[in-house]
Amino acid sequence: MLSEFEIVHRFFTHRPRRAVLGVGDDAALVRPPRGRELVLSTDLLVEGVHFLRGAEPQALGHKALAVNLSDLAAMGATPRYAMLALVLPRADARWLTGFARGFMMLARRFEVDLVGGDTTRGPLAICVQAIGEVPRGKALQRAGARVGDDVWVSGTLGDAALALAALQQRVRLDRAELKHCSQRLHRPQPRIVLGLALRDVATGAIDVSDGLLADLGHILECSKVAAHLEFAAIPCSPAVRRRRDSVLGRNALLAGGDDYELCFTAPRRARQRVIATGRRAGVKVTRIGSIERRARGWPDLVVFGADGAPLKISHAGYDHFR
Ligand code: ADP
Ligand code: MG
Repeated sequence: MLSEFEIVHRFFTHRPRRAVLGVGDDAALVRPPRGRELVLSTDLLVEGVHFLRGAEPQALGHKALAVNLSDLAAMGATPRYAMLALVLPRADARWLTGFARGFMMLARRFEVDLVGGDTTRGPLAICVQAIGEVPRGKALQRAGARVGDDVWVSGTLGDAALALAALQQRVRLDRAELKHCSQRLHRPQPRIVLGLALRDVATGAIDVSDGLLADLGHILECSKVAAHLEFAAIPCSPAVRRRRDSVLGRNALLAGGDDYELCFTAPRRARQRVIATGRRAGVKVTRIGSIERRARGWPDLVVFGADGAPLKISHAGYDHFR
């Protein structure tokens, strides 16, 4: 049986590239960058809540870091460090090997140092903290959207929710669809390069982790504005498009969580620049609506259907306590 020390030593101790001191002391040491601000974010993944029992460890390791890097992407930050707190039911070397591989492959890809954490026994849960940096005053915030801005989203939405529905046998996907959607659910790609490139053009940004309506709703709330979206403009994969007119497909697109795309706002005059920015970052960006003044008697977020009439929205996104 592996001891706590052996787990940390064997699976989570790597020589840091940038940190002054990594795993192995009472705390890590990093040098604060001159003229820049630190960006700190943390996210929890709990078995039975965020992932199903028996989830593949390598995918979990990837996702645990990816969801945190996605928050940094939404701030326009460069990721630098991560910390990992693990609650494990047992010291299973095979599980740990897979988990550490998934985590570290993504960490290396974005040159993130794993600089510390904690390891204890209990029901499986994973808490990661990601630390990044931005030039002072340059972070993308939820509060920056302005009336007249366009609303944009990267990639496609709804695939992860569709994969989850398939796992729960609420929908049947063909083999190619299942492969595509599962990949999106289990291996989300944090939009780091796009987030960095948007720093000089976007006014507000958020990552779509709880569903488009809920997450864009946070931008609207923080910016004290409203938005009009066009349902037909929201980008989706063929698997979601095929089901877009069903309740399940529509909910996946508008309220499905776990896509980890970026939703952002930018001035109308910057349209060409936004498109060029997406191209440079290697991810498609799609304009889905506009930021409007708040109007009394209207909800802050209205989605117009193909017939020009507002859709009735029943379910806006995921909330752990409702
Ligand atoms: P302490 O008793 O001071 O909390 P620990 O024995 O928990 O020390 O941790 C020793 C070192 O290992 C610390 O540097 C800590 O940050 C690191 N560490 C512990 N668990 C992990 C983990 N899961 N991933 C990365 N580093 C870890
Ligand atoms: Mg400890």
